[in-house]
Order: sequence, then C-alpha cells, then structure tokens
Amino acid sequence: MTAPRAAILSVGDELVLGTTLDTNSRTLSLALRDIGLDVVEHRTVADDRGAIAAALRDLAARSAVVVSTGGLGPTDDDLTRDALNDVIDGGAAQVEDPVARADLEAWFAGRGRAMAAINLRQALRPRSARIVRNPGGTAPGLAATVGACRVFCLPGPPREMIPMLESDVLPAVRPAGAPAIAKRTVGTFGIGESALAEMLGTRMARGREPAVGTTASGSVVSVQVVARGADAARRVAAEAAECRAAVRPYDFGEEDDTLASALLAECRARGRTLVVAESCTGGLVGGMLTAVAGSSDVFAGGWITYSNEMKSREVGVDAALLAAHGAVSAEVALAMAAGACRASGAGVSIAITGIAGPGGAVPGKPVGTVWIAVHDAAAGGGRARRFEFPGPRDIIRDRAAKTALQLARWMLRGEDASIIWERA
Ligand code: ATP
Repeated sequence: MTAPRAAILSVGDELVLGTTLDTNSRTLSLALRDIGLDVVEHRTVADDRGAIAAALRDLAARSAVVVSTGGLGPTDDDLTRDALNDVIDGGAAQVEDPVARADLEAWFAGRGRAMAAINLRQALRPRSARIVRNPGGTAPGLAATVGACRVFCLPGPPREMIPMLESDVLPAVRPAGAPAIAKRTVGTFGIGESALAEMLGTRMARGREPAVGTTASGSVVSVQVVARGADAARRVAAEAAECRAAVRPYDFGEEDDTLASALLAECRARGRTLVVAESCTGGLVGGMLTAVAGSSDVFAGGWITYSNEMKSREVGVDAALLAAHGAVSAEVALAMAAGACRASGAGVSIAITGIAGPGGAVPGKPVGTVWIAVHDAAAGGGRARRFEFPGPRDIIRDRAAKTALQLARWMLRGEDASIIWERA
C-alpha cells in the first residue's frame, strides 16, 4: 500500500522574509509522517490572497492532504480564509459560524476583555468549510475538501497550532489500516554519540524492530525508540528499558525529563535538599532547576559567587586557599560546595568554578577549564572533578551546568562513570 501524499503550506510575510523561522513545517512533517503519510512538499508564500489560493489549488491537485498554517488572524493581512473561500466557494459571501462566534465571545469574556469588532471576522467561514476549534487562541482553523484533497488551515502560533493538529487533524487524516506507532525517547548526558552507539550495539542495526537511533541536541544525546504494529506501546517501553540498562549511568530520563528534573526527583526520593554556589555558570544551574515546576520542595537556593571576595564572604572560602590554588581549582570548588551546605543547612550542594572564556586562560588552565564539586553533607565530604569543555562561552557554560546536574545525580544514586570532557 503506498502512503497517501501530504503537503504543507506556510503563510506569512515574516516567514518569506526570514524574520520568523518556519518551525510549523517541521512539526507538521514529523507528525504526518508518523501517522503514515508521505510528505512530498513544503511551500511558503507571503500574505497574498492570490498566492495562497494558487498554492492551495496546486498542492491540493497533487496531494491527499494539505495542511496550512498562518494567516487566520483578524487583521487585513490575514488572508488564508479568503483565499480558501476563493478556491472552494468561488469567493462567495462567507457565513458566520455560531460555534466560532460563541468561542470568540467566551475567549474575550474569560479574560475580562471587550472584543473588538474586527475579531468578528474570525467567526466567518466559507460556506463549504467547517471550523476547527482553537482552545488556545482566537483564530479558529478551517477544514474543507478541494477535489479529492482534504485541506486544513490552522493558525500560525505553534502553541495554538499543535493542540489543534493533535486533536483534530491527525485523527481525521490517519490512513485506515496504518500500523500503530509508539515512540519513546531516552535522554543521556556525558557521553558522545558514537560511544553511546557502541554501548547500544546491535540494537541500532538498520531494519531492526523496534528501531533504535540517536540524536544530539544541546549536548544531550537522545536515544529514540520506535515500534510499529501490534503491541507497539508495550514493545517500545520494553526496548527503552533495555536501552537504558545498556547505557547506564548516562541515561537520566525519558520523554520530557531534563537533567534538572531528574536530579530533583533523586533528591526528593531521598528527602535531600539542594543548594548551588556558581561562579562561571552565573546562576545557570539554579535557572535549570527552577525551570522545573515544583522544584521548591527540594531546591533551597544558592549563590552566584563570581568574585573571589564573594566566594569568601558568602560561602566561606578561605582567602589563603584562593591565593594558593587560584579560584579555578579543586580546593576552591570543594570549599565552595562545603561552604554552601554549611551556610544553608542543605544536604547536597553543587559548586562550579571555571574559565568560560574567551579570555582568562592561564598556563595549565585553558579556556573551558571548569572544576565541579558535589558535596554530601550526610557523608561529610565531597568530590571535585576537572573538565575542559570545548566550544564558545555559552556552550562551555551550558555544558558545565548540565555536567554538574549529572554528577550530583550520580552521587545520590551511588553511580559513577567518566564524562566525555573530563580531564584529570
Ligand atoms: P493569530 O490570529 O493567532 O495571529 P494567525 O493564523 O493569523 O493566528 P499569523 O499571524 O500568520 O497567525 O502568525 C502569528 C505568529 O505565529 C507569527 O508571528 C509567528 O510567531 C508564528 N508563526 C506563524 N507561522 C509560523 C511557522 N510556520 N512556524 C513557526 N511560527 C509561526
């Protein structure tokens, strides 16, 4: 059975001019492909009624499904509705949709705002189209058929578009008899993609079912597991568990888990509180931890001890230690971590001190040199490790922060391994 063809149309001057990156096409392609459609084309057009109509006609003539995004707002440059109307109803007068009108009124009433008359345009639809309700915004989507092609027009903002895609479009266009697909993502950190592939071994062999692959983003290497067909959900879960066992202790979680959420969960499970003393990361670790909702039961807070003076005054690093070893040293990292636990009464602390560059290198301490210490108050001690992170300043800082989260996780779990950027 050949897969039905799908095409994606992005509408907006800002996309054509390059001021907004077209992420919707990527999201749509991945989602449509996942349910078994063959995505054959992406097209981008400006806010131009004729160009939108021509693109809809052309793509519909060659595909079973077309999904467009953008151009459904209330202003004069939002022309997708009119263009669709030209294609399916020859430009006839549009009708007000009672459900769209009620949704619009409820949207404004729920926010205590008066609806501008211009918004009423968004309750209009071509006679031969139906609306796709938008729970996240004011612009309803539209669904229609053009010849044998099913056309869906969704609003541009991804946070509005994605829920409508999932609740309305995908169930409607999923080919009958398409095999069920289940996916799972395992996040790993601290190991390179090729070394991870070696640990996964023959699980990554092409053509294997479930399929196992890796992708890297933001220094996190993810293992993607995809199962198709009967029992896909159970088989994907079993395969993901086996992959995790194969790459332990680098695996930190699945799906939306982050290093920060994984560390917080480990602290929570053990009733430990956490503090940070950050120098070259300037609060990044604290930022990552507090980005996780509910982190306050575990994360108490911390210090940005950027200067030597702050390291001494706030977390009690001995000035003599700083003079003898320099701020970027095992001794100072350990003293920062111990001082952070002492000053806060927390059970676990993370301390980071390093050279994020581009300046600041000294002999024996190139840019990217970072010492990270994790202190365990219950054990009465800590461990510091030295890293040389490659990359520009922002990458060095990001990698240092994430490495610290992984090291603290491992300390709590009693696990250990080398980290790719570690230099003794
Ligand atoms: P709304 O009424 O909510 O604005 P709309 O359908 O009129 O919906 P547009 O005005 O075309 O949407 O786009 C609104 C915003 O949505 C854009 O400024 C941009 O931030 C985002 N957006 C639009 N198209 C895309 C796209 N293809 N990829 C990512 N973001 C997009």
